[in-house]
Amino acid sequence: MKVISSINEIRKEINKIRQQNKKIGFVPTMGALHAGHLSLVKESKKNADFHVMSIFVNKIQFNDSNDFENYPHELEQDLKKADQAGIDLVFLPDDSTMYSNHLTYINIENLTNNLCGAFRTGHFSGVFTVVAKLFNIVQPDIAIFGQKDIQQAISINKMVIDLNFPIQIIIAPIIREKDGLAMSSRNVHLSTQEREDSLILYNTLKTAEKFIKNNEKNCTNILKLLNEYIKEQKKNIKLEYLSFVDYETLQEIDKLANKSVLAIAAYLGKTRLIDNMIINSGDNLKCVY
Ligand code: AMP
Repeated sequence: MKVISSINEIRKEINKIRQQNKKIGFVPTMGALHAGHLSLVKESKKNADFHVMSIFVNKIQFNDSNDFENYPHELEQDLKKADQAGIDLVFLPDDSTMYSNHLTYINIENLTNNLCGAFRTGHFSGVFTVVAKLFNIVQPDIAIFGQKDIQQAISINKMVIDLNFPIQIIIAPIIREKDGLAMSSRNVHLSTQEREDSLILYNTLKTAEKFIKNNEKNCTNILKLLNEYIKEQKKNIKLEYLSFVDYETLQEIDKLANKSVLAIAAYLGKTRLIDNMIINSGDNLKCVY
């Protein structure tokens, strides 16, 4: 596995791979790798011949400076894990490589006015900008993102279409701990009590699935029941949002009809966690979380 920090060098390497007619798969990450990240590498291996991962903690997507300063860094272990997972090339740029004299930002206003976008000012602009830059540097054929960050994945898919990136976006399933908590690099910050309380996110999705499978289609009714359920659990959490949105537009919906998303965000102490479930309504009702 090669580790490259310079843009010129990675371009040279990618050109060589292209000349061999190999399909390039790309997994962008901020490091502190866990099984969720590594599942994206597996997806790359199913769909491409050469596998690139970027590890870059992207300062401009952090709306909270504490979150940025406390973001876990585990470079040595990350490189071992990436190598073992079958990554061929790690792109490991530093801040000045990515952002010297940077003035250009990408926004997708109509997909970021809800959910995380409503609470994390500037976050998505930072994400889309770094992903567009990484796409131009790595020039992959496919790129894999996790359903875990569903607003990010859907928006990036739209960015790729709107800006004509010749890249196929794959959205991979959420990898969870045995008890259901979605894996996240931020989970290391949870105290024992917070870790216990954090299950409320997954349990809320499971409870929603029950209501939905009981043929409840009215989102206001379901949200009311879920908010009551959350209160009854008496967990020490601060709910940020719990919302049904359309899968394509990410706008709030009143009724479950087509493909939609139930998304949740909550603070456990100082740690902000997110989770979601994709709902395929219709005859073959399916909840994917
Ligand atoms: P991050 O390093 O948190 O920016 O995440 C890098 C990629 O890994 C993003 O596409 C995430 O959606 C994805 N990811 C993070 N957690 C998980 C998980 N538990 N399961 C699957 N993918 C994940």
